[in-house]
Amino acid sequence: MLVFLLLVLLASAGPMAPNLEPARLRMVERDLEPRGIEDTRVLEVMRSVPREAFVPAALRLDAYADRSLPIGPQATISAPYIVALMTQLAQVQPGDRVLEVGTGSGYQAAVLHSLGARVWTIELDPVLAEDAAAALAATGHGEVVSITGDGYAGHPDAGPYDIILVTAAPPEIPKALLRQLADGGRMIAPVGTTEQRLTVIRRRGDRYEQRTVASVRFVPMRRP
Ligand code: SAH
Repeated sequence: MLVFLLLVLLASAGPMAPNLEPARLRMVERDLEPRGIEDTRVLEVMRSVPREAFVPAALRLDAYADRSLPIGPQATISAPYIVALMTQLAQVQPGDRVLEVGTGSGYQAAVLHSLGARVWTIELDPVLAEDAAAALAATGHGEVVSITGDGYAGHPDAGPYDIILVTAAPPEIPKALLRQLADGGRMIAPVGTTEQRLTVIRRRGDRYEQRTVASVRFVPMRRP
């Protein structure tokens, strides 16, 4: 009986799953706040979404290092600072319609959904798309709509979007995505080949205002 009780206790303590919350809070203090991430809602979400649930099991303990991590042959989960920066630039409001191009791990989609957005996310690689959908469902973000397909075409069925967030680098801004942006909407995208600039585009009627904010390095956006 005693042995049985002990076994039950051990099993429920979950010895395989270290508590990474302290590492997550440290990451926000160390890598986000001192570098200009000041939107309190973005900081709150970065403190709460379990990034470790979106990285391969062997890399869980690296989940809160300030760098990108490999999640597949042609995919990386962006460094936490870049995720936070793009999210802050997007100025997400609850109820916003958001299209993400390049689902990858699903982490960025979870961050956007945590801010109250309605999220559609497109991934070219069907294996990644399936794994990301599973991770999103497991972390309470099952409302995010995962689409396997080509981000160059966007997803006109659910548009226009208040925000389009592109997380793979196209050589230039895809025209189809510009058309799917709502009036007043914002697109955040790394644009370029060897040199990429993080670019923010705001649509005002038929005009698109564009500015660049940083040099970045994303995996290339591929043609199917
Ligand atoms: N946002 C992701 C990281 C994305 S890495 C995260 O939070 O983890 C870039 C992703 O874009 C890769 O998964 C890659 O497979 C995908 N990708 C590349 N070209 C694409 C295309 N044309 N359409 C959709 N996804 C694409």
